[in-house]
Amino acid sequence: MSIAAAYAALHALDGVDVRQAEPMARHTSFRIGGPADLFVTCDTVASLAPTLEVLSVENVPYTVAGKGSNLLVADSGYRGAVLVLGKEFKRHVCEGEHLRAGAACILAYLVQDAFSRGLGGLEFAVGVPGTLGGALAMNAGSREAWIGAVTESVTLFVPGTGLVRLRGDEISWGYRKSGLSAQGIIVESELRLVPSDPVRIRVEMERGLTRRRQSQPMGVPSAGSVFVNPEGDSAGRLIESVGLKGTKLGGARISDVHANFIVNDGGATAADVLGLANKVRTSVRDRYGIELQTEVRFLGEF
Ligand SMILES: Cc1cc2nc3c(=O)[nH]c(=O)nc-3n(C[C@H](O)[C@H](O)[C@H](O)COP(=O)(O)OP(=O)(O)OC[C@H]3O[C@@H](n4cnc5c(N)ncnc54)[C@H](O)[C@@H]3O)c2cc1C
Repeated sequence: MSIAAAYAALHALDGVDVRQAEPMARHTSFRIGGPADLFVTCDTVASLAPTLEVLSVENVPYTVAGKGSNLLVADSGYRGAVLVLGKEFKRHVCEGEHLRAGAACILAYLVQDAFSRGLGGLEFAVGVPGTLGGALAMNAGSREAWIGAVTESVTLFVPGTGLVRLRGDEISWGYRKSGLSAQGIIVESELRLVPSDPVRIRVEMERGLTRRRQSQPMGVPSAGSVFVNPEGDSAGRLIESVGLKGTKLGGARISDVHANFIVNDGGATAADVLGLANKVRTSVRDRYGIELQTEVRFLGEF
């Protein structure tokens, strides 16, 4: 793998911005993470194929990221390229009840725009940070509603093939997973919304935001829920019941507000967060025989 050669070749491409040794703490909601060898922003669809060609020729592994709101990046960083989508992927358009949007669109803007047009269906996503691409990859949502249920289609860039459009019903949507990122880079999606009374939409959005303010730590770096809820139970309840709320390790803490959130009190490392997550897993397994699975995605060597 030659990072220097890949950097030089990517630097020469149109529509590509590339940085070397980019601290991932700048690109994650945890504000944690060592350097990625390369941090590559592709601004156009046309730049994707040559970018992936360079990475393949130079033998540089890559991963795609959105806003890093569900990522824990190792303190040693990532040996490879983190690829994010730029300008051309930040556009969206409404055609009747259909919202077509690039994968780099911020989900919160789409929620607001749908509301301003009197289109319902995205209220569940109010307060979910990150991009549309990240939301589709994670099948983001709440217990009752998730993005897969309103997805008409997803367009992927598949290395070696090009653009591939999947209908929503061709995608396997699971609880906080979709399998899309294993198939390619999500570049665009069409969401199917429903004309609704704006007052009703607003009331539902306000209700969602109030629920969040009451039940989640606000204004502190985190990656949201660390573990997915086990069938028929809540990870937060289990963690609280084993007495771990408020437990600290280095700069990381299991939130006093919501036990399924680990927050960065300042200066937390990925090792601190992982240490707390492992403590949670062990305690819940020992007490209940339940193996908690992480919702947060890990990047780098742990
Ligand atoms: C305070 C807080 C509250 C949260 N609340 C919720 C919630 O209520 N519900 C919920 O579901 N989540 C929640 N989350 C988690 C997070 O916001 C979601 O998972 C979000 O959808 C991730 O989007 P992102 O752009 O940040 O993706 P990232 O974190 O950057 O990436 C997440 C995954 O998606 C993949 N990915 C991203 N973009 C692409 C792409 N274009 N193509 C292919 N793969 C891609 C990445 O490789 C990675 O595996 C919360 C997080 C925080 C910090």
